[in-house]
Amino acid sequence: MRMVDLIQKKRNGEPLTKEEVEWIIAGVVNGSIPDYQVSAWLMAVYFKGMSIQETRDLTLAIVHSGDQIDLTNIKGIKVDKHSTGGVGDKTSLIVGPLVAAAGVPVAKMSGRGLGHTGGTVDKLESIPGFHTELDQTTFIDHVNRYKLAIVGQSGDLAPADKKLYALRDVTATVDSIPLIASSIMGKKLSSGADAIVLDVKVGAGAFMKTLGDAEILAEELVGIGKLTYKPTTAVLSDMNEPLGYEVGNANEIKEVIDVLQGKGEPRLTELCLTIASHMTVLGGAYPSLEEAKEGLTQLMKTGQALEAFKTFVGAQGGDVTVIDDPGKLPQAKFSIPVTVKTDGYIQGIQADEVGLSAMKLGAGRATKDASVDHSVGITLLKKVGDQVVQGEALALVHANVEDPKEAIQQLQAAYTFSDHPVSPPPIIYKII
Ligand code: URA
Repeated sequence: MRMVDLIQKKRNGEPLTKEEVEWIIAGVVNGSIPDYQVSAWLMAVYFKGMSIQETRDLTLAIVHSGDQIDLTNIKGIKVDKHSTGGVGDKTSLIVGPLVAAAGVPVAKMSGRGLGHTGGTVDKLESIPGFHTELDQTTFIDHVNRYKLAIVGQSGDLAPADKKLYALRDVTATVDSIPLIASSIMGKKLSSGADAIVLDVKVGAGAFMKTLGDAEILAEELVGIGKLTYKPTTAVLSDMNEPLGYEVGNANEIKEVIDVLQGKGEPRLTELCLTIASHMTVLGGAYPSLEEAKEGLTQLMKTGQALEAFKTFVGAQGGDVTVIDDPGKLPQAKFSIPVTVKTDGYIQGIQADEVGLSAMKLGAGRATKDASVDHSVGITLLKKVGDQVVQGEALALVHANVEDPKEAIQQLQAAYTFSDHPVSPPPIIYKII
């Protein structure tokens, strides 16, 4: 086979065979296909799409490109959770301990943030001492003992995705449904869970900007799960405004603690309870979603969910005293209020702009190798639908420079206002 012929075939809109897809993925991993040809092929896929069969072939080729984690030594039904990425998205850090407190094992592999979206590993590393490098034996032992462990993506898991993702990131080919579906499911199917719950984000801060596109992606993800006999559920959730009040790293850990105690922002709490309900029903802890929601709410009220978070943090080397005293988490030098110029109602807070503002403060990384400042970020004091009066603070910008002008301007640009009352969109659009 010649790569140029396969690029041309895709460019002309013809479907590739399983053998052709496997050949490309083998060449991506062993380096025999140069990046410029892989990039051209990605762009052809971006414009011409892939059939359902091609997407499934690509997913399985990604799975077989590296190691597959064997979780059979973990007792119980292992349920994994994955978000397509957003701003202020700390759901994994809430759902993980909550599901663990209900007795369902969670063996989770998480990523770092890139661009305007945050990453679970970065957020966790704002807890002094916390580390996400566990060898496979320790990882499995932790899940058996504490019901929850979170590790960074290992070097050999779905290496084809790592290579493809890095190229997609610099060739404007990230937001393609077949490429996202195969990337996510390639990693999930390599991670060895028995069932998967996916949080598919929709809106300004998400890769999928419209509900229609998110539905197509969700159907595709669930279809790939079915193909491999893994029960898979997709929750389509809103990512027009950032999730919760906090965007950053250490400040998001503080918000996680609030939600686990049942004192969280209502939309974030609702989303976490919904995802955790699906996970615990799939994991056999509750017979129905209603009973799951009720049981999980109780675990928050009784302090068991927070206790599960403490156990998990301590087991991975983190300083558990920060959970009772979040003031011990890294703090920025300055907290600058951003005020509103007119009276009215908040109509929108564009999540991607808020994410980019946080990135400018240093909370995220523009390139893969950049480091993050865990102490900086943004606290949203008002959310969509809130009434505001001139001069009132909309948000606090936590910075380590006295006048983070660009970040503040970008944050201000995220807001739109209305003279009339505004109803926020639903947090959950649909379950597939
Ligand atoms: N998350 C992934 O893991 N891959 C994508 O392509 C997009 C979001």
